Amino acid sequence: MSVVRDRNESAWLLPNDGTRTNHRLRRDMRRHADADEVDIAIVGCGAGGGVLAQRLARAGWSVVALDAGPFWDPDADWVSDEAGSHHLYWTEPRVIDGTDPVPLGSNNSGRGVGGSMVHFAGYAPRLHPSDFRTSTLDGVGADWPIGYDDLKPYYEQLEAELPVAGEDWPWGDPHAYRQSPHPIGGNGEVFVRGAQRLGIEVRIGPVAISNGRFGNRPHCIYRGFCLQGCKVNAKASPLITHVPDALAHGAEVRADSMVSAVVVDERSGLATGVRYVRGGVERFQRARMVAVAGYSIETPRLLLNSASRRFPDGLANDFDQVGRYLMVQGAPQTAGRYAEEVRAYKAPPPEVSTEAFYETEPGKPYRRGFAIQCVSPLPITFAEHVSAQGYWGAALREYMRDYVHWANLGALCEFLPLPDNRVTLDEQTDRHGLPIAHFSYSQGDNDRALMKAAQDTMEAIHRAAGAEEVITINRYAHLVGGCRMAADERSGVVDADQRTFAVPNLYITDGSVLPTQGSANPALTIMALAARAADRLVAGQRSGVRR
Ligand SMILES: Cc1cc2nc3c(=O)[nH]c(=O)nc-3n(C[C@H](O)[C@H](O)[C@H](O)COP(=O)(O)OP(=O)(O)OC[C@H]3O[C@@H](n4cnc5c(N)ncnc54)[C@H](O)[C@@H]3O)c2cc1C
Ligand code: SF4
Repeated sequence: MSVVRDRNESAWLLPNDGTRTNHRLRRDMRRHADADEVDIAIVGCGAGGGVLAQRLARAGWSVVALDAGPFWDPDADWVSDEAGSHHLYWTEPRVIDGTDPVPLGSNNSGRGVGGSMVHFAGYAPRLHPSDFRTSTLDGVGADWPIGYDDLKPYYEQLEAELPVAGEDWPWGDPHAYRQSPHPIGGNGEVFVRGAQRLGIEVRIGPVAISNGRFGNRPHCIYRGFCLQGCKVNAKASPLITHVPDALAHGAEVRADSMVSAVVVDERSGLATGVRYVRGGVERFQRARMVAVAGYSIETPRLLLNSASRRFPDGLANDFDQVGRYLMVQGAPQTAGRYAEEVRAYKAPPPEVSTEAFYETEPGKPYRRGFAIQCVSPLPITFAEHVSAQGYWGAALREYMRDYVHWANLGALCEFLPLPDNRVTLDEQTDRHGLPIAHFSYSQGDNDRALMKAAQDTMEAIHRAAGAEEVITINRYAHLVGGCRMAADERSGVVDADQRTFAVPNLYITDGSVLPTQGSANPALTIMALAARAADRLVAGQRSGVRR
C-alpha cells in the first residue's frame, strides 16, 4: 500500500468525515496567470489528461489542466437517480452519418473533471498481447509501434492506484488483481450459471471499485448507481484517483474552460499554448508544451479547428490522418427473463466477464473476437432496450412491471479500424461559434459477423441459465482512435511516445491514440498509456532531449 501512496496519494487526500470532496485542496490550488508560460497545458481532465496531470505535477512540472465541464463535487452535483444524472454527459451538438451511424451522448462521452470515467461502469480489463500485433497475427487492423510489454508495468501501477478488484485472470497475459473479487448479485449469478452449463470459463471482475477501504475511500455499498457517478467514492475516476494528488503537487485544474484552438508559432513550428473560452471571455494560456486529451471525438475536432497557414487542413494533419480510424465496439445487449426475481440493480452493473472468445479462432468466419460482461441496466435504460425491440405503450408497461425478473448480458466486439470511419468538421457551429464534429461510421463484414456470433453466444448462455424469454438489441460502446499512434506520419498522428509527428511539443494522451481496441473496455489502457507518456516526457527532459 505504501508503494502506491508514495506514487499517488489521492485516496488519502480525500476527506474521511462523510463528505466526498477535499475543498481545501481546491481552494488552495496553485493558480497561474494566462501570461505565465507553464510547462504544460493539458486539454481535458479525464482518463488520459487526469493521469498525465498527476504524473507531471509529481515530477515538479507546472501544469494547467483545462476542462470544458465543471469541477464536480459528488455531494452537491450527483444524485442516485438515472434521469437526474444526464448532466454528466457531453451533449453538445454533433452530426452523425454513415451506413451505421453511432448515436453520441450518454453512452459514449462525459464532460467535466474526471471525464467519462465519472459515469463509466467500472470494468477495468487489460488489452491482450495480441492486440498490439493484429496485422501481423491476423492480417486485420494494425500493429502498434509499442508492444504489450511496454505497457505492462503501467497496467500494474494503475491497477494498484484505482484499485482493481477481481479473480485471477487466465486470459491474455495471465495476472492477479490487487483486491479480491466482490460478492456478486442476481445478474452475476445468472451469468455464472449459464456459462458453467455451457462449459464457458467466466471470472468475477475486473472492476475499478474498491473492495474494502482504500485510503479514505469507503467500500462499495452495492447500490448500483455506478453510471450515475458513484456518490460513495468507491468507484474509480480521475476526479478521486488522480486529481487530488495532482492538486497537492501544484497542478491547476481550470474547469469550465472550453479550449477552442491549439496555437502554433508559424516560425518555430512549435505550440505556444491554447486559446480557450471561460465565462464567455476568450483567453490564451501560454505553455511550453501542450497535450490534448479531449476524447476521441473532441480531440480530432480540436486539431481540425486549429488550422493555420502552416496547417491549412488542420493541426498535425499533413497526411490526412486526423480523425481517421475511429472505432466503436459493437455492444449487443441480450436480456433474459427468469421465473425467479433477479433484481439486477442490487449490485454494481460490472460484475462478471469472460474473454474466452477474445482471440481469433481458426475456422470461424471472422477475425478477432468479443468479450461478454454483465451490464444490469437501471429502469430507464432497460426501457430503452425494450422499446428498441418495438414494444411500446401497454406492452412496454408490461415489460417494465416485470423489470426485477430480467438479467442482462452485454458483449464488446472488436470492430476493426477503417480509414473512412472518421471525424471531420461540419458546417454547423456550436454556441462558441466553433464548427461541430461530423462523425461518419460504417461497419465492415467482419464487424457484422462478430456481432452475430456474440448475440448467439449470449442468447445461448441465457437459455442455459433457464431464461424463458430472450431479447437482443444492437448498440455501440466506447469510442477510441481518431489520432492513432503509428510508426510513421503517413499512417498515424502520434509516435510511440504520443508526440505528434508534426509538432515536437504537442502530445495526445487520450483514447484517440489507440490503433486497435481489442474487446476490452478502454479506460485502464488509456490511463496506462498516459502514465507511460508522462514517464517518457520526464525522462526526455532529464536527458535534455525534449524541449
Ligand atoms: C456510460 C459509459 C460507460 C463506460 N463504461 C466503461 C467501463 O466499464 N470500462 C471502461 O474501461 N471504459 C468505460 N467507458 C469508457 C471510458 O470512460 C472512456 O473510454 C474514457 O474515459 C476515455 O478517456 P479519455 O481520456 O479519452 O476521455 P475522457 O475521460 O472523456 O476525458 C475527456 C475530457 O476532455 C474534456 N474536453 C473535451 N473537449 C474539450 C475542450 N475542447 N476543451 C476542454 N476540455 C475538453 C471533457 O469535458 C472530458 O472531461 C464508459 C463510457 C461511458 C460513457
Ligand atoms: S454500486 Fe458501489 S461502485 Fe457502484 S455506485 Fe454504488 S457504491 Fe459506487
